[in-house]
Amino acid sequence: MQSARRRDTAPELALRRRLHSLGYRYFVDRAPLPGLRRRADLLFPRRRVAIYVDGCFWHSCPEHGTLPKANADWWADKLRGNWDRDRDTDDRLATAGWTVVRVWEHTPVDDAVTEIERAFDAAPTARPWPDDGASTGTGSRKSPGNLGNLGKLDEN
Ligand SMILES: [Zn+2]
Repeated sequence: MQSARRRDTAPELALRRRLHSLGYRYFVDRAPLPGLRRRADLLFPRRRVAIYVDGCFWHSCPEHGTLPKANADWWADKLRGNWDRDRDTDDRLATAGWTVVRVWEHTPVDDAVTEIERAFDAAPTARPWPDDGASTGTGSRKSPGNLGNLGKLDEN
């Protein structure tokens, strides 16, 4: 069964691009917990913050979530299953000391960044980003063509 999560959606890319331009570095599409195959869209391991960009349909956004008329029962089960799994993921991560931030795909990038930075401030294990100048990724990494490799840069 294909997961509801899809990589590299436009809202995700916009958020990644913005965070990158602000100097943040992160993993893309990584599982925060070993043995739990639920990948976060963005992962900040040192801060222990996991970001999910939830699609309005698959995750039943209160504003845009819909239930298809054909096979309505199947869809209701499916979407409810996604919802329950999201909450379970949140619980497991919280138990393991992670801060989970979920933004809707409809959330404006600025608002998403505000929420994420708030989480950084509030994260119990938050540490300042090493101010060594090297990790801000100026130079060759600025090219949008490199965005797909971000997950392999700099963290750890
Ligand atoms: Zn929505």
